[in-house]
Order: sequence, then C-alpha cells, then structure tokens
Amino acid sequence: MSFKVLIKICETGIFQRVSGQKPGWISVARCFSTTMSRTVLKDSPNAALDKSLLQRYIDLPQPDNKVQAKYIWIDGTGEGLRCKSRTLDFIPKDPKELPMWTYDGSSTYQAEGGNSDIFLSPVAIYNDPFRRGNNKLVLCDTYTSDKTPTKSNRRYKANEAMEAIKDVEPWFGIEQEYTFLDFDGRPLGWPKNGFPGPQGPYYCGVGADKVIGREIVEAHYRACLYAGINIAGTNAEVMPSQWEFQVGPCVGISGGDDLWVARFLLHRIAEEYGVIVTLDPKPVEGAWNGAGAHTNFSTKAMRGENGIAEIEKAIDKLSKKHLRHIQAYDPRGGKDNERRLTGHCETSSIHDFSAGVANRNVSIRIPRGVAEDKKGYLEDRRPSSNCDPYAVCEALVRTCVLNE
Ligand code: ADP
Ligand code: MN
Ligand code: MN
Ligand code: MN
Repeated sequence: MSFKVLIKICETGIFQRVSGQKPGWISVARCFSTTMSRTVLKDSPNAALDKSLLQRYIDLPQPDNKVQAKYIWIDGTGEGLRCKSRTLDFIPKDPKELPMWTYDGSSTYQAEGGNSDIFLSPVAIYNDPFRRGNNKLVLCDTYTSDKTPTKSNRRYKANEAMEAIKDVEPWFGIEQEYTFLDFDGRPLGWPKNGFPGPQGPYYCGVGADKVIGREIVEAHYRACLYAGINIAGTNAEVMPSQWEFQVGPCVGISGGDDLWVARFLLHRIAEEYGVIVTLDPKPVEGAWNGAGAHTNFSTKAMRGENGIAEIEKAIDKLSKKHLRHIQAYDPRGGKDNERRLTGHCETSSIHDFSAGVANRNVSIRIPRGVAEDKKGYLEDRRPSSNCDPYAVCEALVRTCVLNE
C-alpha cells in the first residue's frame, strides 16, 4: 500500500497530512522547531561585548558630593525615548530642586537647526538601578524656546485634566505588552526560515520550548521595583517572545510617568543583552496576537459601594466618543491600531464600540470579579502597545469625568 505525506508550512506552523488517512492537517512542528536554522543575536553588537567588565568601574568609589542624574524624555516621534546624563553636587529629593536643561531638538525631530534648543523640565525622580547609590533617573517633559509644550509633550494637557478632577481620585493600571526582536527584526528565538508552532502553549508558559527571554523580564521587574515604579506584575504573552508587565494602580498622572520610565528601563536592560524591544502593536502579521496597552481605570465612586452603576455610566459615555479614543490610542491617530484591532486575536473591531463582562473581544471589559463585587474598575482594551499613556489617561478622564 502506498500513501503520500504532504507537508505544509504556513504562518501558524508546520502541518502534515497523510493521504488515505483521516482528513485534515495536523501540527507536527514542536513549539519551537529544532530542524530549522536559528542563529540567535548573530548580528547584535551589544550582545557581543563582555558584560562582566563594566562591574569593575561601577564598583569604583563615587565621591560623596557627586550624584549622576540621567534625564529622560520623549522625542518628536511621541514613541522614542532619549536620555543624557549630568553630574549634580546634591542629592535631589523633589523634581523642583533639579535644574532645567536643554538639548538639540533638531536631532530628535523636534526643531529646525536654526532654533534647535528644547527645554527639559524635570517632573519625576526615580532611583537609578544601573548606577545605584544616590544616582537618579529624572523624567522630564519638553518645551520649545518660547516655553510652550512641544507637540509630543502630551503630559502637559493630561496633567491639567488630572489636576482638574483630583477630587474623584482617578486610578490607572496599564498593561504593557511588548515583543523581543532579534537584529533581523524577527521575534527573538523564532526559526529563521519558518514559524514556531501555533499559539496556545505560550501564554503564562514555562519551559525552554514555551518562553523566550525570561531573564530580561526578571531583570526588568526587579529594576522597576528598585527604581520606585509601581509595577504590578509580569506575564508571558500569547505569541512566543511576547511579554507583558503592568503598572498600577497609580494615582493620576503618575500612571503615565511610571509607564514611560518602565519602558525606558526595559529598552535599557534589553540593550545590554543585545535584544530589541518593540512596542509595535502587530509585530507579526496573520494569526499571531498583536500587542496592546489595556488601560484599567477607576474613580473613587467606581471603587465604592455599588460602584458598578458609576462604571456603567462611564461605559455609556465612552460609547458615544469611540472615535476620540481611537484617535488618542496610538501615535498615528488610529493608523497603528488598524493593524491590530481586527476583531480577531482577542480584539474588538476598530470600527465598533462594544462592552461586556469577562469578554476579551470587546472595547471595554468589566472584569468578572468587578461584576461580582459590583464595584471596582473598567478595562479599556483599545490602547495600542505604543500608545502615549498620557494621551490615553487624559481621554478617559475628559470623557468619563469632565464630560467633554
Ligand atoms: P488582565 O486580566 O486584563 O490581564 P492584569 O492583571 O494584567 O489584567 O492587569 C490589571 C491591572 O489593573 C493592573 O495594572 C492593576 O494595577 C490594575 N487595577 C487593579 N485595580 C484597579 C482599580 N481599581 N483601578 C484602576 N486599575 C486597577
Ligand atoms: Mn494582563
Ligand atoms: Mn495581556
Ligand atoms: Mn487586560
């Protein structure tokens, strides 16, 4: 008896079908195929450097009266982070004590060469997990030469909104999904000429054939805690090499501040490993989950007795402002989210507003526990992974609290 074995390689994996036997394709690739070539970080210059040498210099005694401050800011893309360091002769306790500084905005897509100085205004201080001791990370927002906020300074207006509604005590919890990439732009550890087995075993997975890059996730988690970021947790995501961390619950503007600095730490730590972190909302086309920044939001009334009524009121207001939110939820006014909010892969369609209890294919989800307790918070699942959290939190507050 003769039979034919057919092999098909497609985006979701490798499948085999044997003629004359039960019809249908069955998956034959292991989670990560070992039969296909997979050279990891071959072209990554940072991965090639000897990481143990730096410790010699970090261990050198630092003069008591000298503090290293790394100023961090968002560049003209609204997504990219920049930083530079300076020496201080005091230990800063409050951002107001820190000097303003300037940088060359013509090199960050923020100014013309002829009038290039952009001002850095310190807004939050964190402990520096790389330099330790009294050394600090300083988050800044940015202003043009006439002291108006730059276009990518979304914090300025968000902070105005947060100040205006302080009495409702807004809390934000943001779930940052992201993907590790190798130097060829493909997810880290994926076969170079194919795909891993289909999604299913990877989410919250454990084991060498289930997750990739956990050491970076662990390093980042501890570094965030050391820095003073209100990090809530981490988990492996649905697509291999995709992960998540959460900040929150954070009060008001600090949600955006903590998320931006946590992003900085993630890029910075992955840099040491020679790994790229992408916040692209759909790093691999097809049946692979995209990445979001689900934003969990509550007010004092929502958290109080029978707060569910308040949550439902907010959802009703959100249903009437879908477009405003889509425009605010990625750096390209909705263009990025078009690739992600397809209605598949645990998303809702970008074109429709929907809400539901424990449903992951909707715009707004009421977590099961919140429905049972009749109080708590709502989860807005629409923000893209590369969103500006200041713009997202501001939109939520303007729609749900300020009734704008
Ligand atoms: P999911 O089940 O959607 O994966 P996660 O556990 O990843 O949820 O994230 C939940 C987020 O909600 C966390 O960042 C947490 O800090 C935040 N959160 C919890 N309670 C509240 C609240 N009352 N208001 C706002 N955010 C909250
Ligand atoms: Mn989550
Ligand atoms: Mn997630
Ligand atoms: Mn979520």
